[in-house]
Amino acid sequence: MAKRVVIVGGGIIGIACAHYLSRAGYEVTVVDRDRIGGGCSHGNCGHICASHVLPLNEPANLLAALRSLVDPRAPFRVRPQWRPALLRWFWEFSRRCNHRHALSAGSAMQSILGASILEYEALFEAREFEAQWQPIGLLYVLRSRRGMQRFAAQDAMLRDTFGIAATRLEGGELPEFDAALRPGLAGGFLYEGDAFLRPDALTRNWTRRLVSRGVRFEENRGVQGIESTAGKITRLLTDAGDVTADHYVFASGAWSKAMAAKLGCSVPIEPGKGYSITTTRPRTCPRHAMLFAEHRVGATPFNDGFRLGSMMEFSGFDATIPSRRIRQLIESARHYLHEPAGEEVLETWCGWRPMTWDSLPVIGMVPGLANGVLATGHHMLGMTMAPATGRLVAEIVAEKPTHIDPTPFSPARFS
Ligand SMILES: Cc1cc2nc3c(=O)[nH]c(=O)nc-3n(C[C@H](O)[C@H](O)[C@H](O)COP(=O)(O)OP(=O)(O)OC[C@H]3O[C@@H](n4cnc5c(N)ncnc54)[C@H](O)[C@@H]3O)c2cc1C
Repeated sequence: MAKRVVIVGGGIIGIACAHYLSRAGYEVTVVDRDRIGGGCSHGNCGHICASHVLPLNEPANLLAALRSLVDPRAPFRVRPQWRPALLRWFWEFSRRCNHRHALSAGSAMQSILGASILEYEALFEAREFEAQWQPIGLLYVLRSRRGMQRFAAQDAMLRDTFGIAATRLEGGELPEFDAALRPGLAGGFLYEGDAFLRPDALTRNWTRRLVSRGVRFEENRGVQGIESTAGKITRLLTDAGDVTADHYVFASGAWSKAMAAKLGCSVPIEPGKGYSITTTRPRTCPRHAMLFAEHRVGATPFNDGFRLGSMMEFSGFDATIPSRRIRQLIESARHYLHEPAGEEVLETWCGWRPMTWDSLPVIGMVPGLANGVLATGHHMLGMTMAPATGRLVAEIVAEKPTHIDPTPFSPARFS
């Protein structure tokens, strides 16, 4: 009889874990306290960026965080609050704002991002499901000469240290490259190995495909407690009765700190809130996914819409969507695009990224529990890292050799 796995959390990470576990012959159930795909995996930008290897730990980001204490418009913002866990998080984050960490985290990120792109290519080539997959690169657009110079330094590091090369476009070339871009911009860098897709189409269609293969998805089933004996999880206490299995995977995104406490371990993840607006397609809609680096805003064209997304707020689980933040997305995009948004607003949204202080995900055995695996902490890149995470989790559960080195992602690093 097939061994049973229960996955807690039906975001992109839980869904990807379900895919690879079911493919490996396990009987899989995914439980979510809310809707499947309704968390952070719903309204994000959908950029699949293998080029994004550098950690968020940068002195410039630390300075931005400090300045933001008095600037509510800052894209990277810490709301003034007295919370020892958040202070500790920033302390640990700041300790890693150095070149040594950039190299070690960058190389770990490169392995998981690169493996994920290969997995996505295989999934879409095999027509497993549809998600508006566009493997045509990601364009970073710079508005000022200073921005261009700064980005060129980062691009040189990516090329020289990690072998990730971009095509540089001068300002005059941009409107011809993508007619949605305004004249007068300083330039851009096209990372051709990157891609983009529609996130909600991905979670919906991947889930449907898995249902057709026998995976069970149970919504409105929150995990309230976890029982264990002799170093093994024996059952989950949910608000719709108890659940038992042979193995348990915890993919509860930004809520993982609370889940880890139930598991008796420490996973110091903070929620990093972001916003997006989805509209109908502007008349001159970009053909490419773009990142407006100086404003930290992402833009993604879909077949049936257009999305702007950005911001990183450390403000706990505050679910409000201030209209000024949405306006700010459009105002920022106006510097780069003829039309920053389409005529009709289809959705405004916020979601919480699961942020780790070292900019690395948390994938591996729950410390002290032989049949529990954590798959969380995918910060700004969960859509990108999902397939390799799912494959890695299936390999860990099956105690098979892993396709990438899992050591840098081990949950034990927080013990
Ligand atoms: C504005 C914005 C733009 C982004 N753009 C990109 C991008 O372009 N590319 C990219 O790669 N990434 C991007 N991201 C990041 C990406 O969205 C996340 O990393 C990813 O969605 C995290 O997936 P997840 O499955 O871990 O979390 P989630 O999708 O949040 O799923 C976690 C699930 O766990 C469930 N859960 C929690 N606690 C319990 C419990 N006790 N019991 C049962 N269920 C529980 C929740 O209900 C939720 O459904 C962006 C994020 C934001 C906010």
